Amino acid sequence: MPAPYDGVARGTAAREDAVHEGILRRQSARESAARTYARALPIVPVRARGLTIEGADGRRYLDCLSGAGTLALGHNHPVVLEAIRKVLDSGAPLHVLDLATPVKDAFTTELFRTLPRALADRARIQFCGPAGTDAVEAALKLVRTATGRPGILAFTGAYHGMTAGALEASSGAQDVRVARLPYPQDYRCPFGIGGPRGAELGARWTESLLDDTKSGVPRPAGMILEPVQGEGGVIPAPDPWLRRMRAITESRSIPLIADEVQTGVGRTGAFWAVEHSGVVPDVMVLSKAIGGSLPLAVIVYRDDLDVWGPGAHAGTFRGNQLAMAAGTATLAYVRENGLAERAGDLGARMIGQLQSLAKEFPCIGDVRGRGLMIGVELVEPGGATQPASGPDTTDGASDFSADPLLGGPATAPLPAAPDLAAAVRDACLNRGLIVELGGRHSSVVRLLPPLTITDEQAAAVVDRLSDALTAVARAQHC
Ligand code: PMP
Repeated sequence: MPAPYDGVARGTAAREDAVHEGILRRQSARESAARTYARALPIVPVRARGLTIEGADGRRYLDCLSGAGTLALGHNHPVVLEAIRKVLDSGAPLHVLDLATPVKDAFTTELFRTLPRALADRARIQFCGPAGTDAVEAALKLVRTATGRPGILAFTGAYHGMTAGALEASSGAQDVRVARLPYPQDYRCPFGIGGPRGAELGARWTESLLDDTKSGVPRPAGMILEPVQGEGGVIPAPDPWLRRMRAITESRSIPLIADEVQTGVGRTGAFWAVEHSGVVPDVMVLSKAIGGSLPLAVIVYRDDLDVWGPGAHAGTFRGNQLAMAAGTATLAYVRENGLAERAGDLGARMIGQLQSLAKEFPCIGDVRGRGLMIGVELVEPGGATQPASGPDTTDGASDFSADPLLGGPATAPLPAAPDLAAAVRDACLNRGLIVELGGRHSSVVRLLPPLTITDEQAAAVVDRLSDALTAVARAQHC
């Protein structure tokens, strides 16, 4: 914010600060202890456009949280506003349960147009309650009904939502009917080797669980996965591994559910992240960006799974006309303007720049991502390296990581540094940049900028993040 230049400006600034402080004070007095983003981001947004948010105190921020990855076109994009106004001005009903409307018809047509061909040709859509987690519930219910089996396969590090079934499939849960499989990751590979061989071992474990009659895991109703884990720490699944999961599930008649709630609508460099691998899932869970910044969640699935009965997944709020109109406009804009490709190119450039920066700072353990889903993992540079898992080698037991079969010794990751990550997030906020934390230990600084971000804005984001990282690294001597 520019420095006040006279008494009037100073007075205005003081009033703005008082409003801002008052709202934050009342929020902390009245809202739940379970509030999340609000704790880390003491800002009071009053205006927003594109990448920029303005707070009640007059400060401006570059918003790389984007409503937790919702705002594919940034805040208040003109085509979104126009679509919303058109519905409002038309006199159309805003609340219609799940009745047919022209607005919904147009949304379904545009959505089906973007789907992988093999799915689009045989797709059914179920409109769900307006959050991603309800669509996850619907997907689990759908495959359980279709297969008559209760079990679900899910992955370490997964995040699917906060309702009971989605939580059960997420990795923080105490498993009930969910068998957990290793998600492939290079930096903290559970087998200590990463790369294609780490992914291969995970795939073999999956096969063995399914085929060993004494594995304790009966044939499941479905497998649910994120093509890139978001909340789990920005971990892209390798394309060959995804194809393996498709082959494993297909050959055993297990429906594959792709949770594209966060990865969808161009974010990873393809319209849907499964397209990178050519995998066609049986069910896709879609939310966030498909509502063009308003709440909307659906599942799309192959018609032969559509054997559940009327009302099997009901809900009052499944017909948000404004969200459907905003979503149609967003989907069309991303498609017509090649924004997925743009996200892929720009994301690769930003990841490259951050990887160069990582070389200067031992406290940056890893920089990774796909498209405009980017993560920077903070570690304790002085900490002892952690064998990702497996035998403790300190007592002289054999060191499997040196086994040539496993691809030779791996570079062991350093301990995660959640405090450093929080310090970087705060330093970013001080520099007018909003980022999120994620990952198993909340040690990954995440960037989810809108796909409309310009080259200049991307440079400003990288500059501010670099500056914040430098300041924290210097202050912490790491
Ligand atoms: N699945 C994934 C992959 C997500 O990232 C999220 C939200 N971050 C959800 C499901 C749940 O969506 P919601 O918060 O809208 O319930």
